[in-house]
Amino acid sequence: MPTDRNDALFPSFDRRLELTTRLDERLNAVLSEIAAGPVSPTLDIPRFRRQLAAIDFATPQDIESVSDWLIENMRVGQVHMTHPRYFGLFNPAPTFPSEYADRISAAYNPQICVWSHAPAAVEVEAHVIRQLASRLGLPEASGGHFTSGGSEANHTAVICALTRALPDFTRLGARAFTGQPRVYASKESHLAWLKIAHESGIGRDAIVLIDTDGAGRMNANALQDALEADVDTGNCPVMIAATAGTTNAGMIDPLRECAELAREFRVWLHVDAAWGGALAASERLRTELDGIGRADSVTIDAHKWFAATMGTGMFLTAHPPVLADAFHVSTSYMPSNDQSVDLYVNSMQWSRRFIGVRLFLALATVGWDGFAEHVERGVALIDRLNASMLGAGWRVANDARTAVSCLVPPVGARDVASIVATLVESNNHWVSMTRFEDEPVIRACITNGRTTENDVDSLSAALVHAAKS
Ligand SMILES: *Cc1c(COP(=O)(O)O)cnc(C)c1O
Repeated sequence: MPTDRNDALFPSFDRRLELTTRLDERLNAVLSEIAAGPVSPTLDIPRFRRQLAAIDFATPQDIESVSDWLIENMRVGQVHMTHPRYFGLFNPAPTFPSEYADRISAAYNPQICVWSHAPAAVEVEAHVIRQLASRLGLPEASGGHFTSGGSEANHTAVICALTRALPDFTRLGARAFTGQPRVYASKESHLAWLKIAHESGIGRDAIVLIDTDGAGRMNANALQDALEADVDTGNCPVMIAATAGTTNAGMIDPLRECAELAREFRVWLHVDAAWGGALAASERLRTELDGIGRADSVTIDAHKWFAATMGTGMFLTAHPPVLADAFHVSTSYMPSNDQSVDLYVNSMQWSRRFIGVRLFLALATVGWDGFAEHVERGVALIDRLNASMLGAGWRVANDARTAVSCLVPPVGARDVASIVATLVESNNHWVSMTRFEDEPVIRACITNGRTTENDVDSLSAALVHAAKS
């Protein structure tokens, strides 16, 4: 019955309210129980696949039963970011304001690629970007935009650096360069750089992975040597990509030295602060980012330490006009083509979701101070974890102020892989295994504002126990 189906897609406003209220009740009931349950999936995969296959889109079902099915299968079918003992990757339990903002954004569904279609939303995003740029100490005229994540922001940085290095890059691509364009990042950097080089058409050989200093930070002397060697051999240095908060260990590269070398070799300085950028909120901890204000561009992922819902990255730059140089295009069907405000001529995306509202609503609700508390809390909890592990004879391999701990069990203990496997299998904590400075370590990170000292103490006890058994 076509009318019924149209009603299902576009219900009356009374029906809409009934459904959203019901959904809120269900989600609240499920979410409030997550902490008492397992962190990792317990899904019966064959059964799930059979049920999924039966949803063949031939027979319509009511939205209540399909969404109840989905909520239940997601409850048992994922690693829970919202679990207070998920000491995981940089994926956060989302802040409530960011989740709330998603609903506002989805309800209006503005098209924000053109200012004139959604001036309110476009200006809210631009406001957040400007406030953040100023907080980082970037120059007054800085700008930028929201991205799908850190990878898109880092990709944007490479395109900007190439375009600025050689205006002919716009027309000729990599052929514009007389030698291999080069981008320098540390061995501990996020290796999406390799994909980005490939995607940018400069090839994976463009990425030079610089040695670290033994403590997880880019070695500035090795960087200088690499730049000099490339100049001598006819390669074309284009960009230094310093990391502020490495994915493995939360380490921050020497930003001042990188800025000096960028100036000396006339290359673009990008700071990938996908995780660490949130330190800017804290008066006490922002000094960790000293030098970031000298960057040509910065990546910050609001879906990491700012705990926005997934898919909230940011690209900030001291040279907004380069964005239009790189991304301009004109078509007859777009309502306008204003390079100062229209995002489709300033960024990689065309149609865009209003994602900046997630960070806007959260910042407006708790202020910089609220996020200062959030990051300081994470750092304090990791300090507590480190102290108890040191007390138990373990070693902390990384010296970070970014709520990430890389732990090494004492001599004679079980190996790192077995300890992590025991923890993850017991399904009461989630930690990961990684390598830091060529050594296997157990990595724990705090992203969840509901994680307590009790949760951290429970993790230390579980680690100590798993190391022995
Ligand atoms: C997470 C991360 C990225 C990639 O960001 P996505 O949002 O996953 O695309 C890049 N750099 C660093 C340092 C990261 O931690």
